[in-house]
Amino acid sequence: MPEYRGMNLLVPEHDSEYREYFALAAQGRLAVRRCADCGLLRYPPGAACPWCQSLAWTWQDVAGRGTIVSYELVCHAVQPGFRDWTPYAVVLVELDEQRGQPTPEEALRVVANLVTPDLRPETEENVAINKRVRVIFQPLSDDFALPQFTLSGEPPAGMPWRLPE
Ligand SMILES: [Zn+2]
Repeated sequence: MPEYRGMNLLVPEHDSEYREYFALAAQGRLAVRRCADCGLLRYPPGAACPWCQSLAWTWQDVAGRGTIVSYELVCHAVQPGFRDWTPYAVVLVELDEQRGQPTPEEALRVVANLVTPDLRPETEENVAINKRVRVIFQPLSDDFALPQFTLSGEPPAGMPWRLPE
């Protein structure tokens, strides 16, 4: 069973949605589901399309580049394994493949930790809405990796905004 920061990450055998998602990540692939009927991409990889309710889907690789559209700073870690990370950022990343679709409020968005390229928490003052990020994979076992995001260094997608001090 893969372990992450002292926690066992148990994904049951019958959980085809997340087992395969993390297994593809172990191959260096960020994959989301594409609805076979309306064609929209979705995350998390649920069984039904949230827009047309179709149960038909395929995996679709995405480039793993996107923009921070919201974030949260975790100051008090619920999980003991994160205590020495606080304060750390959890970011909501809108992926480029489906920016603003099907609506500006409901696009292809992934929640992740914002980390440095060596997988340490990004410093608080570097976190901002509109900053650009790219996926990086943290291998935890042969068939399990965690997709994380790191700042890409590209120009921001708009004026960077962060919570005033
Ligand atoms: Zn659909």
